[in-house]
Amino acid sequence: MTTLTRTSLLSITPPELFMTETIAKDFRVAIVGGGICGLVGAIGLVRAGIKVDIFEAASKYGEVGAGVGIGPNAVRVLREFGLLDDVESFSPEDPPSVRAFKFILGTGTHDMLYHYPTREDDLGLGVHRASFLDALVKFLDPSVTPTHFNKRCNQISRSNENPLRIILGFSDGTSHETDLVIGADGIRSSVRSMIIQDGSKAEMPTFTNTVAYRGLVSIEKLKLAGVKTELTPSPICWMGDSRHIITFPIKNDHVLNVVAFVTDFSIPMGHLTLPKGEPWVVPVSKEEVVNEYEDWGNDPLTILKSIEQPTKWSLHGLYPPLNSYVKGKVGLIGDAAHAMLPHMGAGAGQGIEDAYVMTRLLAHQQTKASNLEDVLQAYDRIRRPRANAVLLRSKACGDIYEGHGESGPSSRGRETDLQYLWEEVWHHDLDADIQVGIDWLRDEGVFV
Ligand SMILES: Cc1cc2nc3c(=O)[nH]c(=O)nc-3n(C[C@H](O)[C@H](O)[C@H](O)COP(=O)(O)OP(=O)(O)OC[C@H]3O[C@@H](n4cnc5c(N)ncnc54)[C@H](O)[C@@H]3O)c2cc1C
Repeated sequence: MTTLTRTSLLSITPPELFMTETIAKDFRVAIVGGGICGLVGAIGLVRAGIKVDIFEAASKYGEVGAGVGIGPNAVRVLREFGLLDDVESFSPEDPPSVRAFKFILGTGTHDMLYHYPTREDDLGLGVHRASFLDALVKFLDPSVTPTHFNKRCNQISRSNENPLRIILGFSDGTSHETDLVIGADGIRSSVRSMIIQDGSKAEMPTFTNTVAYRGLVSIEKLKLAGVKTELTPSPICWMGDSRHIITFPIKNDHVLNVVAFVTDFSIPMGHLTLPKGEPWVVPVSKEEVVNEYEDWGNDPLTILKSIEQPTKWSLHGLYPPLNSYVKGKVGLIGDAAHAMLPHMGAGAGQGIEDAYVMTRLLAHQQTKASNLEDVLQAYDRIRRPRANAVLLRSKACGDIYEGHGESGPSSRGRETDLQYLWEEVWHHDLDADIQVGIDWLRDEGVFV
């Protein structure tokens, strides 16, 4: 673990949480899904001395080429895992920085309504997803922690020979026996569908009535095209009626990551569905994007016109949130547990927090094969309330940006609703949560 070099809430970690990391465990873990959350989880577990296999449906690691913002809460976790310095060195063009939103009107002359207040140590990351994943992959020695590619999990059952063990089945007909399964297989999680079978369809992600147009643009090109608004270093939320655009710089301020949202507020969320078989992500023409914003001001229109190959994402999420993230010895992390609207830039961060909490609980000196179900219950008790709260808050944030917040669409109304939006997301003490989980395990007689 690297030395802490900056002030961190996690620096108050009780030593008990970490003193166990070298104790050999009598169980193995299988992680289904090698996205950002699965890989952070794998690295954490391996560093805690736990044996891990990763099963990934794709033929190699890969991420769609877009930016992802990682908030100060998740940056602290990366640092605590000893990953931050290496992610930084792998991606030197995107060092951690204080990245508070500027809220600007999308129409007229783009008046600034509010600049979110930050603390000096509110360091966030804005990284290219593929670079981030590449940086993470380098931490896993394939001879110790193999990733099994082309393995799409489609079955989970108990072993007939040893009912304490779990069998994962894959679409190619092969199987794998393990002690604990972590479902990190994203928003369309098969693991989630297999463990939540209560007939409620709660495991199915809902269309959120919001589409997002995404793309990357050269900042130099935008300056040449006459964009006057300062696009760096702060991320910008351009606000309008039922629409908003998020822009933030990546690649050492050379590239602007653009996500332009359009929401249909005329129908309650959950009532609209995409036609069967329609893909959630499709390429679209530049004209389609620009038409949605034709009444907006010069700067956002110029940005949208400059996107070379825009894609349209029909945003889905787990609304309403799940009632449980675990069943038996199977637990969910990341989007599999709480796929949310991206309006707080907090989805991946919550998954990284899941990985941290899961790792610390599994690494505890008293965690063993015989009490894994209880330890997963502790994980669920800690993580579900927090991540589900962020999931609901993400929807509420989008409503504010698009003029549908509690205090209405006026500038003053939006400003009122924007106050301290990120406070609870960024400044949360995860180690205190973990201690609550450990205390619960003691109260239940699982830990002594
Ligand atoms: C428009 C948009 C903008 C966003 N912006 C941000 C942001 O700024 N900040 C932020 O924190 N978050 C953001 N998010 C959310 C963030 O992208 C996700 O929360 C995060 O990528 C989820 O990571 P994950 O590892 O849980 O899932 P994924 O990245 O989806 O990875 C899942 C992996 O599992 C594999 N898999 C799937 N099914 C199976 C199976 N059955 N068997 C084996 N493998 C399987 C997949 O191939 C994939 O590799 C945004 C999301 C969207 C849509």
